[in-house]
Amino acid sequence: MSAELLEDARRALDEASKFVDLSEDAVEQLKRPELSVKVSVPVRMDSGELTTFAGYRVRYNTAMGPGKGGIRYHSEVDIDHLQTLAFWMTFKCALMNLPYGGAKGGVQVDPKRLSRLELERLSRAYINKVADFIGPDRDIPAPDMYTNEIIMGWMADQFSTIKRSFVPGVITGKPVALGGSVLRDRATATGAYVVIDEMLRARERRPEDTTVAIQGFGNAGAELAEQLQNGGYQVVAVSDSKGAVYSAQGLDIKTLRDFKEKNSSDGVYHAYQLTDCEDKNFEQISNQELLTLDVDLLAPAALENQITEENAEEVRAEMIFEVANGPVTASASEILAGQGVEIVPGILVNAGGVTVSYFEWVQNRRGERWEESQVRERLDKKMRRAVSEVEEVAQKEDISLTTAAYVVALRRINATIEAHGTVDYYQS
Ligand code: GLU
Repeated sequence: MSAELLEDARRALDEASKFVDLSEDAVEQLKRPELSVKVSVPVRMDSGELTTFAGYRVRYNTAMGPGKGGIRYHSEVDIDHLQTLAFWMTFKCALMNLPYGGAKGGVQVDPKRLSRLELERLSRAYINKVADFIGPDRDIPAPDMYTNEIIMGWMADQFSTIKRSFVPGVITGKPVALGGSVLRDRATATGAYVVIDEMLRARERRPEDTTVAIQGFGNAGAELAEQLQNGGYQVVAVSDSKGAVYSAQGLDIKTLRDFKEKNSSDGVYHAYQLTDCEDKNFEQISNQELLTLDVDLLAPAALENQITEENAEEVRAEMIFEVANGPVTASASEILAGQGVEIVPGILVNAGGVTVSYFEWVQNRRGERWEESQVRERLDKKMRRAVSEVEEVAQKEDISLTTAAYVVALRRINATIEAHGTVDYYQS
């Protein structure tokens, strides 16, 4: 299943290759990840017992700069899965024109079963094991699913302890107090909002006449729901892993978010269920029903592989904005294209997160602390530029937005690989 995920992801690259004059070296280099390490992460549990978890770090390609990408804590994390996620990071960073390659890491663990101290020991132990593979000029981790700024803080602290000097640029998504950037926690949603707003404006669509369903109520989903509602959109459905809530009149997102905050277990994870919210101005539906609602926009902001060959035909939304990485499979995309559904790819929609990570890294290296307005303005500019580049290539070549996004990224990666020196240098 995980190996199929990479094959599926690579289909977008194969399609894009038809529109790029790729060097042989680039084709060869992009075939497989550069580095995949698996480490044993021993953790002293509260009981006194020693438990060993599997930890990983993968770098897919670093032609454009040091590796960049999050660390995921999930029971289904494995090397194949991370290779796909690192592949997406490579193209996401190139699309945004960031001086980074793509990477991803993770630990195979159900983090909700750990106490807060066990979680800290796990995070520090993971850094002990991957310290030789990361660094501000080598590979820069960040948060991903089930990791957050608290965890990034522990990790940055551990790396500095190992190096016996303060190295904030090794990890992004840190608490602001420890050199994190303002807005990083809301960056993915803020970037997604800009993409949605920009694309709808180009299609002469008004927010007030636009209904939205969002799958996922985590860091990205919940913040995006609130921003969209504040922007005048009608957010009619949101969900968590246990179920979805729906209201044809539009949900009260603020109340749902307050409920989530109140039910936060220990500041690291939330122990709540949206459908338990006391404000019952909604109907309860399933996650599957959410994906097939008759809405204008669908924003899957949870996991990979949510819209597949099985349910693609039932999707009734006009546009899908991939807030998660890879929520729509390649085969599902073909079916949806046949139904006239426009898909905006994750490497564009969710790129706000890594973009503000880049700003954090720049601030760390320059010893600066930027104001929120500065970060917001720069993010806005980068997102709008990427949207217009993708739209332009899509129109010029008459291809989907997904293929166009890969074309923009691939052209950049190809040019960089050529500049590093390719076979042509040796043959002439
Ligand atoms: N995990 C996020 C992503 O998938 C952010 C990565 C980063 O900030 O480096 O894009």
